[in-house]
Amino acid sequence: MIIIPKKVYLTVVAAAVRFANTRIPKDDWLEVSGIFTGRNEGDYVIITEAYPIMHQELDKNAVIDQYKWSDEDYESLYIIDDKAFSRDPPEFVVGWWHSHPGFKIMMSYIDIQTTLSYQQNNPLAISLVFNPTRLIRQIEVADKKGDPDKQLKNDPGFKIFRLDNVNHGTEASYHTIDYRIDGYESMEQLITLTQKFIVDVTNFFPKDNIPKTYNKFISERINRFDSLILGTEEYLTTLAHRGEKTRIPEVLENQSQEIRKFVAETSVKIKSIKEFMDYLEYKEKEMIVPQIESILHKWDETVSGLDKKLKQLSKKF
Ligand SMILES: [Zn+2]
Repeated sequence: MIIIPKKVYLTVVAAAVRFANTRIPKDDWLEVSGIFTGRNEGDYVIITEAYPIMHQELDKNAVIDQYKWSDEDYESLYIIDDKAFSRDPPEFVVGWWHSHPGFKIMMSYIDIQTTLSYQQNNPLAISLVFNPTRLIRQIEVADKKGDPDKQLKNDPGFKIFRLDNVNHGTEASYHTIDYRIDGYESMEQLITLTQKFIVDVTNFFPKDNIPKTYNKFISERINRFDSLILGTEEYLTTLAHRGEKTRIPEVLENQSQEIRKFVAETSVKIKSIKEFMDYLEYKEKEMIVPQIESILHKWDETVSGLDKKLKQLSKKF
């Protein structure tokens, strides 16, 4: 039995969907891969974290599973494994995961080779294969072209595998392993929430230009915020000039509500941005996270004086 916390599951989903979603032409969908850390307890594998490591390079002629880890990717693995070991109780890499975007969940020859390298170090190591399309459409693609697709129910979009016998090397056969995903009331709830999550990732967690995307978003929000404040002031000035001062408290109240609603909506989006930072590839984080923090700081600074600004307007009129 494999225990998977919600956050671990969402990490795999987000990393995979970021490189294979409806905003990207299907021919350009890329496989992603990463590792799990955690510990073994008896036959149980308790996963505590998932780390996205890399995505495949775009190569239209590539067959499946042409994921090649760079030296930097292996470096990430060693750092993560080291850090896991310093936890209490000590943890380690308990397996790996990758995506099969839009195609069947199974283990290719290359996947078996990769899984072998993990299981040789840790016999309980696992291999998780995730296909976002399977989760979205709740179908398993037919083995042979022309055969009907198999309808699924409450399927989280992945299977977990382990090799039967590592002594058989790359000839080893494999089996599926049971799992439990913690953090949901039911599988129905998991499917519904995750399908919504996939829409958010598709719309707001791009594969490239992350700082540029979020900088544009925040700049637009700051401009809108400033113009809401300015608009309110102009509105109140007009009322004062027209001699309709009695309407000012009501208008100010309505304008304040509108501004607060806008700030609250922006906070929801910012919460997503912060969450998505956890789903970046390990090697991206060092570069991207500080940039995003400084972008978000600009928004915090903009709205931090809101109450004061509204009070000033109220006094002025
Ligand atoms: Zn594969």
